[in-house]
Amino acid sequence: MERLKQVRFITAFGIMVFVLLWSQVGFGNILASEKYSKVIWRYLETLCAFGPRYPGSEGYNKTKELIRKVGEKYADQVVEHPFFVRTETGTSQSMVNLELRFEGTQGGAPILIGAHFDTRPFADEDPDPGKRSTPILGANDGGSGTAVLLGLAQYLNQHPAQRPVHLVFFDGEDFGAKGSGLNLLGSTYLAQELAKKERSEWPYWVLVIDMVGDKDLQIFKETYSLKGSASFLDKIYRVAKDQGVRSLIDKTKYTIFDDHYPFHRMGIPSTVLIDFDYPYWHTLEDTLDKCSIESMMSIFSVVVKTIEDI
Ligand SMILES: [Zn+2]
Repeated sequence: MERLKQVRFITAFGIMVFVLLWSQVGFGNILASEKYSKVIWRYLETLCAFGPRYPGSEGYNKTKELIRKVGEKYADQVVEHPFFVRTETGTSQSMVNLELRFEGTQGGAPILIGAHFDTRPFADEDPDPGKRSTPILGANDGGSGTAVLLGLAQYLNQHPAQRPVHLVFFDGEDFGAKGSGLNLLGSTYLAQELAKKERSEWPYWVLVIDMVGDKDLQIFKETYSLKGSASFLDKIYRVAKDQGVRSLIDKTKYTIFDDHYPFHRMGIPSTVLIDFDYPYWHTLEDTLDKCSIESMMSIFSVVVKTIEDI
């Protein structure tokens, strides 16, 4: 009897601690948060199991297939934006942005949420010069943002936002060597396509997430985001504060050319959430063990709350 009581007490205590922990993360529904944390972590494990995912690689092809499959299952529409890039050696590389569209409950201009799905073809920041031409795994850089977006696809299928949401998986963000100008290729291409269209077809807001898996997650307010999308950034940080998310730090630190930049240049409010204090950036050490689901879930929960009614 005593033992049973003890077990019951421990179980009840365990549940209480769990609820408390998740309410700290701020995700309202404990079952939903448990479900999506499993879903998102599994996506990240799958992406890492594909290996390096630079354009043309086997892992890259498998990633595109996974995104298409998720899109067919959960999105209202899957749109592909293929394009070609002339490489430094003069060859042509085919690339594609994959877009999963979700109709909102109230219509209006869409929110574009983007992440790059490609990984860096070479570890040019690796401390060992002998490893600098080896492709990186990109668990955090390329993997974490893609996994969160895939989780969002499943979430939005079940919990539509008011506005339409377009999840865009950008290609070629990390393609070229430093100074080659061959980076942000997918987002630049999409921005150029948008520039040809009427302004009424432009997104209401562009939100890019990149490198959000670091165990020690610290996201500062990025300069271009602050310049072009201050009110959206305020909302994100307000939601984070309400949810007790401490990884979003209310200070400015970096100016970063990420996939939000081509849209920022067009005058579309554009934000990037990125943790640039990551010692394994563009090295062979950017692996799954450096990532945590708690970090990714804190961003997921802030994003779903922020977009729900804007
Ligand atoms: Zn990168």
